[in-house]
Amino acid sequence: MSDLLFLPDLKTIEEPQENETDMMFKVEAIKPPERCPECGFDKLYKHSSRKQLIMDLPIRLKRVGLQVNRRRYKCRECGSTFWERLLSIDEKRTMTKRLVESIEEQSMSKIFVEVAESVGVDEKTVRNVLKIMWHSKKENTDLRLLNGLE
Ligand SMILES: [Zn+2]
Repeated sequence: MSDLLFLPDLKTIEEPQENETDMMFKVEAIKPPERCPECGFDKLYKHSSRKQLIMDLPIRLKRVGLQVNRRRYKCRECGSTFWERLLSIDEKRTMTKRLVESIEEQSMSKIFVEVAESVGVDEKTVRNVLKIMWHSKKENTDLRLLNGLE
């Protein structure tokens, strides 16, 4: 199946569905995690899974949603369970990192409504993305200040 997404750690598992305005891709991780994040053991088994909706960059001016089949694994050695990590996804914002980057970048030169329109999310989402960005920048600044005081 041709993959329109080009995300390094996700693959499309069904033909995308689309209508006039939206596209929906069903995706999952390309490969399972290699080791347990707790103890480093390499014998893991699937524990459970859930569907998660992640927004991605528009394709041909259509809004893109990824229905990600997230899997939870259990370690045979230490028994700890964990969700697989997907590096292309910004977990806090349930968007791909490239969508977040695009919003941040466009916000430098456009007003919120325009950014929202061009990436296919609502204005409130754009505002939230930027709020978190400013917040994390502020935290970094505060940390630098603290370090400077020591
Ligand atoms: Zn383990």
